[in-house]
Amino acid sequence: MMRGKQTPGDVLIIGSGVGGLTAGIILAKLHCRVTVVERNPLPGGLMRGYLRSGIDCPVGVHYMGSLGEGQPLRRMWNYLGVTPLIPIERMGAEGVIDRYIFDDVTFDLPEGIGAFEDNLRRSFPLEHSLITTMMSDLRQTSRALASLDILISPAMTLLSPENFESIGEQLLRMGCSGRLLSVLGVPPTLIGLSLRECPVFYYYMTIASYLMSSWRLACSSSRMADAFVSRFMSLGGDVVTGEGVARILVQSGRVKGVVLQSGRVLPAGSIIAAVHPGTVVAMLPGGALRPAYVERVAELENTKGIFAVNLAVDADAHEALSYNIYRLYSGEDGALSRGIFHQLRSSGQPGINILSMMTTSDIEDWRQWEGTTSGKRGSDYLEAKEKKARRFIGEASELFGDLKGMRILDIYTPLTIRDRANSPDGSAYGILRSAGQFMKTASLNRTSIEGLFLAGQNSMAPGIMGTTMGSFQTVRNVIGYERFSREVMGDFL
Ligand SMILES: Cc1cc2nc3c(=O)[nH]c(=O)nc-3n(C[C@H](O)[C@H](O)[C@H](O)COP(=O)(O)OP(=O)(O)OC[C@H]3O[C@@H](n4cnc5c(N)ncnc54)[C@H](O)[C@@H]3O)c2cc1C
Repeated sequence: MMRGKQTPGDVLIIGSGVGGLTAGIILAKLHCRVTVVERNPLPGGLMRGYLRSGIDCPVGVHYMGSLGEGQPLRRMWNYLGVTPLIPIERMGAEGVIDRYIFDDVTFDLPEGIGAFEDNLRRSFPLEHSLITTMMSDLRQTSRALASLDILISPAMTLLSPENFESIGEQLLRMGCSGRLLSVLGVPPTLIGLSLRECPVFYYYMTIASYLMSSWRLACSSSRMADAFVSRFMSLGGDVVTGEGVARILVQSGRVKGVVLQSGRVLPAGSIIAAVHPGTVVAMLPGGALRPAYVERVAELENTKGIFAVNLAVDADAHEALSYNIYRLYSGEDGALSRGIFHQLRSSGQPGINILSMMTTSDIEDWRQWEGTTSGKRGSDYLEAKEKKARRFIGEASELFGDLKGMRILDIYTPLTIRDRANSPDGSAYGILRSAGQFMKTASLNRTSIEGLFLAGQNSMAPGIMGTTMGSFQTVRNVIGYERFSREVMGDFL
């Protein structure tokens, strides 16, 4: 092991999303001097929503898995010390976490692997042997997730190439029917992938995490963001907001610090970039990275953006639901062609509930406004957003009936996400961790620059769970496995 790994020196973290702040808290707990730099006026990245008419509209946190007592995300939050600061509520009180509604059929995703298996067997009686194979793989991955094996095992055997073949291809080879493919196609959308694109490993990890237990915030999204920030600062961490990192300084193949947009220089012995790898490349001096690495990053395909509508509705007419509704449409081949996510919950204001709706959205639909910034995109953009939103509202009325007391709180597009998170083309989940891109994404964390590390949703996996695990993994790389197992793992495993 390299000696330098034991002493990361002053650490500078670029980006204050859940990825940057998680890495910051762990390192601050290890008594490192850590500064997080955030280009937005407020820290928190996609965790932080925004207020419309006094109502908190979420951006990057609608629901999370594995926050039950003893479950992996909860154990990581306990280690970070944020659990008591973030009020959450368990979903699925009526036995359903997600309701999938197709034109002709409804499928309920319940809590628990056993209940999921029962629902699959009941809905697809002709596909028992495929379901048996699938459930065995799911249980195996779920055990690995529950034990956080991926973080603690020195060899990280789960990351072997066979776990990165396409789950869609695997299911097709097993003779999976079109309808079952559609049902199984929903979970990968939670990390921005289709079933065909999704590697086996990510598929089972994602679904296992939500089946363990699913939760949503019982507080505003800013409270979640503030919880991470206050915890980090209480450990002595420093947060610089309102100006981004313009350049990363490198000397003799080692990081030296960063230059902020104002020209201010912040020296650092280690830098953790919890932002998109394309942003990292653009911040480095030409020639600092190997040309093959730069080429790989430039070629990487990203996940698509999201179009979202937040509505205020009458709480008496539209009671909060403890599950999400996905309205789904399949193509002729049975694969999912379109889906809209709905979440109806309390707004925190008396008599008003909030209905959040989201769907995947291609940047091409918004390309003509790409040169504009939030709030100044012009009336034609507002009209295009509203027209699309009206279609959604019409479709939502088929699910919820006439939307009583309906008011549009806000509509956002991939351009909003682009400007909010500095994510290329408004990509919601960063780089596409598809089976086809496995080789290109696998070694991204190994740059040739000493002291430079990646964290955030682009380092291991997206979503709150994937990003959090990724940050533990990054710290493991920064301080070395031995120190990590001694000083971090011992505390929460
Ligand atoms: C619409 C939407 C809905 C989602 N819903 C869910 C959900 O329900 N459940 C779930 O688990 N996940 C969800 N996700 C995914 C989840 O939000 C993300 O995977 C996670 O928040 C990513 O965290 P991060 O720290 O990697 O990045 P971010 O939160 O994007 O943080 C990166 C930060 O870096 C800053 N930055 C960028 N460039 C610079 C620079 N040069 N200098 C300084 N700062 C910089 C950005 O401003 C940003 O604040 C959703 C995502 C989206 C977009």
